[in-house]
Amino acid sequence: MGQLQERYKNYRVPQQYMEEGVYPYFREITSKQGPEVTMEGHQVLMFGSNAYTGLTGDDRVIAAAEKALLKYGSGCAGSRFLNGTLDIHVQLEKELAEFEHKDAALCFSTGFSVNAGVIPQLVGRGDYVICDDRDHASIVDGRRLSFATQLHYKHNDMEDLERVLKKLPHEAVKLIVVDGVFSMEGDLAKLPEIVELKHKYNCSIMVDEAHGLGVFGEQGRGVCHHFGLQDEVDVIMGTFSKSLASIGGFVASDWDTINYLRHTSRTYIFSASDTPAATAAAIEALHIIQEEPERIQHLWDVTNYALKRFREEGFEIGETESPIIPLYVRDSYKTFLVTKLAFDRGVFINPVIPPACAPQDTLVRFALMATHSKEQVERGVEILKQIFVEQGIIKD
Ligand code: PMP
Repeated sequence: MGQLQERYKNYRVPQQYMEEGVYPYFREITSKQGPEVTMEGHQVLMFGSNAYTGLTGDDRVIAAAEKALLKYGSGCAGSRFLNGTLDIHVQLEKELAEFEHKDAALCFSTGFSVNAGVIPQLVGRGDYVICDDRDHASIVDGRRLSFATQLHYKHNDMEDLERVLKKLPHEAVKLIVVDGVFSMEGDLAKLPEIVELKHKYNCSIMVDEAHGLGVFGEQGRGVCHHFGLQDEVDVIMGTFSKSLASIGGFVASDWDTINYLRHTSRTYIFSASDTPAATAAAIEALHIIQEEPERIQHLWDVTNYALKRFREEGFEIGETESPIIPLYVRDSYKTFLVTKLAFDRGVFINPVIPPACAPQDTLVRFALMATHSKEQVERGVEILKQIFVEQGIIKD
């Protein structure tokens, strides 16, 4: 037996859940993405997607991707730095910079690689990087890759952030990195307070708009714009894999910072560029969200309806203020069981267990899209209510 096989032969966690019949992962979808999808042979309501604007199945987005595929081919076979820059990459960067009211932007091949390639490049030895303890894994990994001193504060606890900042040298470079919308709990970063602390303690701020883009702010520009703080936030990053109906990510900032990253960020220079189809799809989705405000309005209508209904039915939904609604279960096995029962009854939701949350905070994550109807939301709420009551998680 090889060393690795020897070491991992006892990795039995998934098998245990498989034997119990509640293993929830890697279910195969055989239809187009949308509010209802075909999964493992049956139709389910999709409440587990991050496509908040609902554009992944949009005919215009698909047509734009198809056109780019035919014009440029299937891939770029190189990094942006060398042979992999297309005119549409440059166009998308220009449009994203304008959208975010920043000087310039850079596109990466995933959102994860933005955080992994930008954070360690912005801060190094002698600097400090400070994160909320619920920040996304890609921020955590970006922080780990940096030679800066790594610090964190309790989720959204501004007193704790101040306690951390107080101890640091005034002149040192200090980068605070936060999710604009927290991806599992759906609550927002307290940006106004963070900006105050930035000035008091001489820091910089980077905001991850993965879940804010297409949802918050004028024309879906994100949480920084929602608070009117886009000029106070030094670096904004986002992904194309959620509201922009594609795959890829971007960072936007001032001209000098972007020019530096363009020539040094390792996941940008040493990784192949976004495919033509992915780039064209993101451009089209970016146009649609700006041209169709009613789309975001509808997303908020169904979100507010779902929030009201879950509260009325006595679900514990935490501090969410977004289309991400956490339904707390507070037990890992039951979280998987609820996910399976929901799937069997036609509702797809995501289980969230450690390490994505603390052991006592397990939940199922119910997320809305602009293509959901109120009737579909009501069906989802009713089915989940039945299951949560049966399992003794909420009262009838
Ligand atoms: N940041 C946050 C907050 C995320 O939730 C995610 C993905 N879930 C990412 C970054 C990574 O984005 P991508 O999927 O485009 O790699």
